[in-house]
Amino acid sequence: MSLSDYFADFIAADELTAWSDSAALPGVAVTEHAPGVLALVPEALEPGVEATIISAGIHGNETAPIELFGELLAALDAGQLRVGAPTLLIMGNRRAIAGGQRYIDTNLNRLFRRDTLLRDDDRFECQRALELMQAVDRFMTDITGAVLHLDMHTALRDSRYPRFAIEPFSDTPTPDNLWQHLAGAGIQAGLSQHQHSWTFSHYTRHYHGAQGFTLELGRVAPFGGNDLESLAPMLDLLRARLAGAGARPPDNASLVRFDVIDEIMRESDDFRLCFAEDIANFTEFAPGSSLAVDGARGEWVVKESPVHVVFPNARVERGARALLLARPVVQTPPGAG
Ligand SMILES: [Zn+2]
Repeated sequence: MSLSDYFADFIAADELTAWSDSAALPGVAVTEHAPGVLALVPEALEPGVEATIISAGIHGNETAPIELFGELLAALDAGQLRVGAPTLLIMGNRRAIAGGQRYIDTNLNRLFRRDTLLRDDDRFECQRALELMQAVDRFMTDITGAVLHLDMHTALRDSRYPRFAIEPFSDTPTPDNLWQHLAGAGIQAGLSQHQHSWTFSHYTRHYHGAQGFTLELGRVAPFGGNDLESLAPMLDLLRARLAGAGARPPDNASLVRFDVIDEIMRESDDFRLCFAEDIANFTEFAPGSSLAVDGARGEWVVKESPVHVVFPNARVERGARALLLARPVVQTPPGAG
């Protein structure tokens, strides 16, 4: 069985077939840690290679990542890409992908938290979150070196920076050279979270001390409608990680860094945003601008310095986040201070 066939079956078949081909990739141990999750570990490892977790389809209608994932599988099956580093390949939400939907019962990318009652919750995504967390835990038990998790998504709206990385909240900063690698892969902006948010990339970072990002790779489009050319540098990065090629990041690549400084929650049924619904991510609002009005909480107005709005959505449930507010990170020029 080829890797491509395995993942195609995982998405489309009524009944799941376990991975069983022990000789699919010469010199590589392939282990199924959960349905739709394969670990590829070279039998002979060069010292110092870094492991990678690559996930796609956590939201079922975000197809560009699934197409990139398919390119990797095809290259592996054809022997054009050799596995030189431990890699965990994860296809997220099979039923949502098959249905072309973001999710079936609830947003999978809010559920990656231990010590919750997921086990007793029979919603489709709750069971899948459990499987994925266990699969990552199993993969991580055998890994000794550094790990990078790239959880690939596409955004629901346009963006002033079409390709951006969200850095989960953590006490340990992302090393500069990792930001540079992302910039070299065509990522235009980085957004650092200000508090815990129970996403998949946060899970690997928070519980396993890995580096991890949620990558927004352009805007949601149906299969075949994605601009894969703009994602070619990202595919190169994924291939290099899989091959265990410890390339130096390009010297001239850079991206714009933002910090989340606040969020606006929907507190009552009577809630509205004060700007057009289809506004682009990272749109800037000047001091004095009105952002949202909530029946219980009142009006939010931008105070002394401009803010950038990310992921606005007025139609979230009560008590949920309706938008994030971000500011550019003030970068100290080299040699200053
Ligand atoms: Zn997504």
